[in-house]
Amino acid sequence: MLSSNNYLGLASHPRVKRASQEAIERYGCSTGAARRLGGLTVIQKQLEEELAKFKSTDSAVVFTSGYTANVGTIQALMGKEDMIFSDELNHASIVDGCRLSGARVEVFPHCDTVALERILANSRARKKLVVTDSVFSMNGDIAPIPDLVRLAGEFNASLMVDDAHATGVLGEHGGGCLDHFHLEGQAEVVMGTLGKALGSVGGFIAGSSRLVEFLESKGRSILFTTALPPAAVAASLEALMVIREEPELRRKLWHNTTFFRDRLKRNGLHLLPGETPIIPIIVGETSQAERLAGLLFSKGIFVSRVGYPYVPEGQARLRTIVSAQHTTEELAYCADAISESIKEMGLEQKPSGQ
Ligand SMILES: *Cc1c(COP(=O)(O)O)cnc(C)c1O
Repeated sequence: MLSSNNYLGLASHPRVKRASQEAIERYGCSTGAARRLGGLTVIQKQLEEELAKFKSTDSAVVFTSGYTANVGTIQALMGKEDMIFSDELNHASIVDGCRLSGARVEVFPHCDTVALERILANSRARKKLVVTDSVFSMNGDIAPIPDLVRLAGEFNASLMVDDAHATGVLGEHGGGCLDHFHLEGQAEVVMGTLGKALGSVGGFIAGSSRLVEFLESKGRSILFTTALPPAAVAASLEALMVIREEPELRRKLWHNTTFFRDRLKRNGLHLLPGETPIIPIIVGETSQAERLAGLLFSKGIFVSRVGYPYVPEGQARLRTIVSAQHTTEELAYCADAISESIKEMGLEQKPSGQ
């Protein structure tokens, strides 16, 4: 399995599974109502407190997915008179939230802080929001967070970071991109998912108590949907404890990432610049990516191929993702199988697909 967001293997960690089973025994399978209408469980409140600690913020609020966290938050915070500055490779849930908000949206070229500075300087909107993925889900690169923090401050904008792929992965404590850059507390809105490194399902926003109270009362994707089931909440709560108590899992993830990246390069493959466990291998046409994924599957490797509309035409790729659970032998086998299969197909693998 070379394409799972289960970065630390917590979805099947014995402690996480047990906590989830016990929550079912104790609380049942459903919360039976929306958060504000009786669906808020004691363990969800506990999870929110732990998430706030994990993210070094005053407060946090849980949503039923990362998708609904982004959509509900951007829609609640921004309106017609306001302006959003959004990286061109931001996740679809950010794009949808921007659309629903009715705000004007300026899309800036990927990680181009010079272009961003120019459009920020030209904006006369009273309320401005700069929004970015911290780790871009299809390229695996990291946003220039220190520059974004500086620009947001300079132009009186708020900063929102989508830490879906960074939570539990980046930073000394696994706290995400702000932990990674030692900039805790420097983004007004921090979004994360419980469905990737945290091993279950759900999403959250961490920030000030004022922000969290506002979202609890105004976020339509909280108000009008059933709260997360106890099994998911308890799993994520235990996953946070494991992340704190077993830092060796994160060390293994980064060791594996470096090993796999180096082995692919040694085998002559061209990689996009990046350092995270998301390592795309661009092959060109969607049909070629499909054939390559099929060939690898016949060699015992599951790797997802990503084509249009996830990525532009002509830039179809294998999206390999390393986890802490892989052994060195498995990763060596995979890297070699990928380069051999590309040769067998007579493909000319290019870094950008252009
Ligand atoms: C996966 C992802 C989401 C959505 O999270 P879910 O919990 O799967 O809904 C949002 N943003 C980014 C960058 C993601 O990769």
